[in-house]
Amino acid sequence: MPIYRAPVDDFRFLFTELLELERHRDLPGFGELSPELIDDILTNAGKFHEKVFQPLNRSGDEEGCHFENGTVRTPKGFKEAYKAYCGAGWNGLGAPESAGGAGMPPIITMAINEFGFSSNQSLAMFPMLTAGAYGALLATDQGWMKQHIVPKMVTGEWTGTMCLTEPHAGTDLRLMKTRAVKQPDETYRINGTKIFITGGDQDLTENIIHLVIAKIPDGNGVIHDDLSTVNFFMVPKFLVKEDGTIGARNGINTGGIEHKMGIKGSPTCVLNFDDAVAWRLGPKPTPPKPGEKRSSSAGMAGMFGMMNEARLGVGVQGIGIGEVAYQNGYAYARERRVGRAPTGAKEPDQHADLEIVHPDVKNMLLRARSLVEGNRALAAWTALNISISRSTRPDAETAGMLADLMTPVVKAFGTDTGFEAANLGMQCYGGHGYIRENGVEQFVRDSRINMIYEGANGVQAMDLVGRKLNRKGAAAPNALFEVLNGWIGENDKDEAMKAFVDGVKRCTVALQAATLWLASNASKNPNDAGAAASDYLRLMGVTMLALMWGKMAKVSLGKGDQLHNDKLMCARYWMQRVAPEAPMLLERIQSGSVVLMELE
Ligand SMILES: Cc1cc2nc3c(=O)[nH]c(=O)nc-3n(C[C@H](O)[C@H](O)[C@H](O)COP(=O)(O)OP(=O)(O)OC[C@H]3O[C@@H](n4cnc5c(N)ncnc54)[C@H](O)[C@@H]3O)c2cc1C
Repeated sequence: MPIYRAPVDDFRFLFTELLELERHRDLPGFGELSPELIDDILTNAGKFHEKVFQPLNRSGDEEGCHFENGTVRTPKGFKEAYKAYCGAGWNGLGAPESAGGAGMPPIITMAINEFGFSSNQSLAMFPMLTAGAYGALLATDQGWMKQHIVPKMVTGEWTGTMCLTEPHAGTDLRLMKTRAVKQPDETYRINGTKIFITGGDQDLTENIIHLVIAKIPDGNGVIHDDLSTVNFFMVPKFLVKEDGTIGARNGINTGGIEHKMGIKGSPTCVLNFDDAVAWRLGPKPTPPKPGEKRSSSAGMAGMFGMMNEARLGVGVQGIGIGEVAYQNGYAYARERRVGRAPTGAKEPDQHADLEIVHPDVKNMLLRARSLVEGNRALAAWTALNISISRSTRPDAETAGMLADLMTPVVKAFGTDTGFEAANLGMQCYGGHGYIRENGVEQFVRDSRINMIYEGANGVQAMDLVGRKLNRKGAAAPNALFEVLNGWIGENDKDEAMKAFVDGVKRCTVALQAATLWLASNASKNPNDAGAAASDYLRLMGVTMLALMWGKMAKVSLGKGDQLHNDKLMCARYWMQRVAPEAPMLLERIQSGSVVLMELE
């Protein structure tokens, strides 16, 4: 059966040595964050997930969810584990203290979420979605919801969902049909069908708070194929009145659950809204001014806030599964005996050498490990930038731009390479990985969805290239190149850093050339932007991880212990074996779109 040990030491390294959180005690939520407290949180959360979540990962996959008499039942043990999770206070870790939470910043919640995704992604998705939903309710500033709904979600008594997708509209939300009609008492009635709703129904809690997007019809009762009338609503499974009293069952029924390739312990539901009572979130819609054409409504802002948080969360899912797959592949390769080392038998008295003597196996393991640990560093760096952006520091605006730029990269690069790491971990098992008995094929199946939901990875790449690069006169990529070139300049003269600086330089030069190429070609031929997007996102991922590995190498030089030596090994691996992908990606980007457009 698979093993899992929470990578507490690696997080300790990131928080204390790489990002030096001690120097950021002025940031929101960092005041109380002493090294002892961080240690305490990481150690306890690590143990909790190893002991409570991980043992249910396999059984949850085997059993799956059940749909009986219109209700959903989660796998055996999930209810108790979820209660234990909430009882230990993990559910409200990132919620503000005023809402009953612990007020921890995103960099801490991200770590705890990763333990959840490594140990049991299906189960860990309930709290992740709940945190996104209560965050959206807090952001949309509804007094009575803050008082009566948010606290129950912070304790985990109620869960939350995000209801966007419809059968004919996943990526293209313009086409959604669910409608919301205003009532004299200012509530709305929602009618329509949402599909693929994670945790849309479950038996863990008595109530579920659905956050739903729907269109408000125009004065003639017509809904349009654009985003201008899309609004964001709170729709509880059981009615919650504005004075906090719990009422009858709302008009929402579960049409069924999907039978899926992975995350089988997570119920993916069809929800039918039939005159469901809803409360609109966000600022009041204002009528368009004469001649004004709107591409989206004010209500979409709340939804985008929730989606951005969820995108980072899904990136961390990729890292989490990559980590556990690596751990198992590594353990297996150090036990399995197969063949002889190319340079001659390492253990002649044994019938064969250990699998890990083979250079190709070492390559698989080093690739998986440097992807996972590099992505973890990038996610933590992004989370730190989010906190800086919420502060009064002079660099708050730049930090916000960098975090915004990195969001699609953490999501798409983190999940593409998380899947790759899961695959490599399984490959170490040979045929024994492909059969169910050893449990590692589950990592491949579970991690595959991360590349699809929360915006398919190709769509993330379009967001990066189409929106993020050009905003405010390319301010975000300019800020990023200042970070990259600044680091190169700081370390250029340090002989011990030469190999790492050269690697970061090589990637930065390619990324700069690709950015310039896009700036001069994409507006002339939009197909060039679309054709380049995924390679460009990957190039940015390879470059940012080169920077992360360069920074990790710098704090590891001269330390001499196992952890720091391993960091230096992975950093060297990145510069020699992954950084060369940068010029190759540039070449592909610059080849344009002509050959792709040949396919009818
Ligand atoms: C297990 C599971 C859980 C889910 N949980 C939720 C949930 O909780 N809430 C929710 O609302 N939804 C959820 N979803 C839905 C998920 O977010 C969508 O499936 C996803 O956004 C893609 O939408 P689609 O399936 O309609 O694919 P489509 O939109 O039809 O896209 C198909 C493919 O076309 C490509 N594509 C589409 N548009 C573009 C473009 N503009 N540029 C480039 N390529 C493009 C992409 O490669 C994409 O994969 C879940 C789905 C699954 C399977």
